[in-house]
Amino acid sequence: MAKEDYYDLLGVSRDASEAELKKAYRKQAIKYHPDKNPGDATAEEKFKEISHAYEVLKDAQKRAAYDRYGHAAFENGGGRGPGGMSGMGGGGGFHDPFDIFREVFGGAGGGGGGGGIFEEMFGGGGSGGGVRDGSDLRYDLEISLEDAAKGIEKELSFRKAATCERCDGSGAEPGSKKVTCPTCRGVGQVQRSGGIITFRQTCPTCGGAGTKIEKPCSRCRGEGRESKTAKVKVRIPPGVDTGSRLRSVGNGEAGLSGGQPGDLYIVLTVKDHEIFERQGQDLFCEIPIKFTLAVLGGTIEVPTLFGKASLKIPPGTQSGTTFRLRAKGMPSLRGGAQGDQLVRVHVEVPKKLTDEQRSLLEEFAKVSGDADQPTEEGWFHKAKKFF
Ligand SMILES: [Zn+2]
Ligand SMILES: [Zn+2]
Repeated sequence: MAKEDYYDLLGVSRDASEAELKKAYRKQAIKYHPDKNPGDATAEEKFKEISHAYEVLKDAQKRAAYDRYGHAAFENGGGRGPGGMSGMGGGGGFHDPFDIFREVFGGAGGGGGGGGIFEEMFGGGGSGGGVRDGSDLRYDLEISLEDAAKGIEKELSFRKAATCERCDGSGAEPGSKKVTCPTCRGVGQVQRSGGIITFRQTCPTCGGAGTKIEKPCSRCRGEGRESKTAKVKVRIPPGVDTGSRLRSVGNGEAGLSGGQPGDLYIVLTVKDHEIFERQGQDLFCEIPIKFTLAVLGGTIEVPTLFGKASLKIPPGTQSGTTFRLRAKGMPSLRGGAQGDQLVRVHVEVPKKLTDEQRSLLEEFAKVSGDADQPTEEGWFHKAKKFF
């Protein structure tokens, strides 16, 4: 059996720092320590291997030597940069014609393509370009004002790149095996000499995975993902507004080679309402009332998003007066006080009168002396000098 790679033994990437090495070694050593595994020969053997691996890797010179002689694969690996990855996951393929589209929110794991040597040397993507996190997705959802006020559960349906069911994301045809990458011999990186400096770079053949698929899955052609209709239930909390963004963790696109799935972002638009106009957390509406009600006063029923409410109209209410119904507005998303509903009344003047109505009103006008003084008294006195 071939000797296991020292980095693999410790479970660290090839560019692990000294501190990472030490931490990994302690963890492994504790796990396989003979005191913890009495009589277990396999554990003891493993413990020795781990200790040996750490002894080599903690020493900078020995580590460099190991890196150099451990895999001479750069001789046949050189050539092209790690560009081999770019076609695998990032490039479209699953464009959805409806209301969802790819959006790069974080750009995690974008590595493969451009970064190349420098990205790896200066702490960019780190280990294995083969592992890539799935893209985040955006879903534009339109809801009614009622739903925004009360909250609602919605089931969203959209196309996305999901884990292939046939190969369970491995990309390998069921029954076939993954073979060790011939270019890097399973290491995931190759070395390249540039004058006096030696670079390590992601293996162009396997993209850093260290393995190669013997026979690609017939369904996903080796990508490990397939385009699928996903159904996701989301709970929309009361109080959302146009532009509110909800995040559904892990419901974005599937990752590649064991990468994490992306998230789904739901971006909300609250539709205009026939009666209510939203002003922050308050709701505004205008209600016509009969002029007799405005004069005599009374109670009217007013619609709210939470059912009917009664509103007292005091005698002598003027057209344009605004009344406030406390806590009938929009709830607060952050747990603050609920908004109010503002009702502006608009006094309607009848356009047609029956004979009876006409004579009653004429009688009213006569009793009030309106014929002599058709404008409001206070105003009349103020304006008298103009007459
Ligand atoms: Zn597949
Ligand atoms: Zn390789």
